[in-house]
Amino acid sequence: MKKTDHVIRNVYAYFLTEGWKTHKGFFAVRSIKMLLQSLTPFLSIYFIPAIIAELMGEKRADRLIGLAAALVLLEFVLSVLLGTFNNLIERYGQKFENHFQMILSRRIMELDFQMTEDKKALDQLELAKNGMSWYSGGMNGLMEPFFSFLSNLITLLGVVVLLIVNAPIVLVIAAVIVAAATLINGKLNQIEQEGYRRLSKINRIFGYLGWSLVDFRYGKDIRLYGSKEMMVEKWQCFTRDWNRENVEIANRQLPLQLLRDGTQILHDIAVYFYLGVLAILGKITIATCIQMVNAAGTFTGSLRNMVFCYQDILKRANYANEFVKFMDYPPAMPKGTLDVKEGKHIFEFRNLSFTYPGSEVQVLKNVNLTIREGEHLSVVGLNGAGKTTLVKLMCRLYDPTEGEILMDGINIKEYDYQQYMQVFAPVFQDFKLFAFKIRENLLLKDSEEMDPVTDEALARGTLRKIGMEEKVDSFKNGLDTVLFKQFDEEGIEPSGGEQQKLAIARALVKDAPVVILDEPTAALDPVAEYEIYKHFEELVKGKTAIYISHRLSSCQFCDHIAVFSEGGVKEYGTHEELVDLPGGVYAEMFAAQAQYYVS
Ligand code: ADP
Repeated sequence: MKKTDHVIRNVYAYFLTEGWKTHKGFFAVRSIKMLLQSLTPFLSIYFIPAIIAELMGEKRADRLIGLAAALVLLEFVLSVLLGTFNNLIERYGQKFENHFQMILSRRIMELDFQMTEDKKALDQLELAKNGMSWYSGGMNGLMEPFFSFLSNLITLLGVVVLLIVNAPIVLVIAAVIVAAATLINGKLNQIEQEGYRRLSKINRIFGYLGWSLVDFRYGKDIRLYGSKEMMVEKWQCFTRDWNRENVEIANRQLPLQLLRDGTQILHDIAVYFYLGVLAILGKITIATCIQMVNAAGTFTGSLRNMVFCYQDILKRANYANEFVKFMDYPPAMPKGTLDVKEGKHIFEFRNLSFTYPGSEVQVLKNVNLTIREGEHLSVVGLNGAGKTTLVKLMCRLYDPTEGEILMDGINIKEYDYQQYMQVFAPVFQDFKLFAFKIRENLLLKDSEEMDPVTDEALARGTLRKIGMEEKVDSFKNGLDTVLFKQFDEEGIEPSGGEQQKLAIARALVKDAPVVILDEPTAALDPVAEYEIYKHFEELVKGKTAIYISHRLSSCQFCDHIAVFSEGGVKEYGTHEELVDLPGGVYAEMFAAQAQYYVS
């Protein structure tokens, strides 16, 4: 009980606060609707017995017409008002849906990177997404039972007075019936929630399959590796699981649903019997008997509604709590508060070892390395030697398992994370450009926010430097050309090399003190690669630059070369120092590549 109370408090505190911050008008509309709803049952409780009393008594035509007209008119006005408020609430619901989707996306982007590989965090994200949508019904789904509970409470207090005076046993009948219905309803909700937990994993796999099947970037591999059948088989297999799970939930719920509906019939029989006996014995008049039938129905209805609303609140709060939990998901890495000073920085890797989360293999072993201010370092080594991992650790996408990384003599964990991120402009092997305009990809802001003079000059100047200006100008929409065709028929599909150049341009626009190029030239031919490096050396003059490359042509431009092998720095020095080192890894790689180019 304690835990459920805590969940409800937690969820409603979060959503009421967030809702109040976003749309205060919503609460005014909901409160008025709540009052109107609680008044509605009293119309028939008051007017119908009054009409019957008049019919059985003096039968005055003007009074009868007056009562009937007032009843009809008030019911009409109430239903128009309720309809209007419902419409307003729907509109707010849509706004809230967009709002919560936006804050979820923002949270996902702010998550520590290593959580993107953490199965528990991914499952929690899936629970959060589903929990906030159809399962809880979003903001409206949460607020409907909440306000409904309050309006039923107001109604209930009103009819309780009437019943205590005229027919107190009705209160006992109602309490027993509602208690039985409550138990049954609780069981129904429990079955649904158990099913929801089991379905969450299936839904995630569904999402992955669905996305891969329609995403054209997977199209090449799906066709060339003939993986269509495998995808479809997997899809069918999970559909079977999904159906089986749903059928099982429905089968378990059916008898309980019938039983719950049966309690209503029992209630009606008992109430009619009791009030009938009171009327026959002359303890109440016919008009009062009818009023009590009405009041009893309203009382039981309100009480049952309150209990159902509470259960509904509990069920929806449990779903929505997954959203709140995700918003509060503990960070994977501690964050510091130190300000990062302007200008260049010196980095030192001290006894650094690293194992990826969830893996057993130590990828980096006791690495010691210093990168001085403005130094250009080439990192070479065979595939899987740990080169990319080193820069990922440097950018604090992960934290070392052992040892430390220092910037300007201070452990990088001490710095403010957002400021620390600003130190780097990396181009990773698996960089991603967005399906937006070219200028938006370079400057990373919405084109409507851009300054037509300075931003234009910055984008153009950078494209010129990397030899892409002419190419971009040749597109019909120039810098406003949209990349890829997901959202725009006129979008272009840049070649691998062009994409890399755009990614490099984006890194240059950021103008960060440390530039990292992780095999950025893999899609380029050796001549284009040489050109890029030659230019690049001019472009990053004065900045610290780290190049990771298989091709050793990059090394000629660098101050130092670090050769990685088996997770450690095996050799370190200048090209001249390493190229003739007897038995050296670099010397061997260089000889192999030189031979290849000469021949
Ligand atoms: P390199 O850049 O030298 O080719 P990487 O640093 O990318 O090498 O990878 C080093 C090793 O770490 C490889 O064996 C790779 O499989 C492993 N690895 C890379 N990323 C992950 C990850 N996210 N989880 C587990 N292992 C990883």
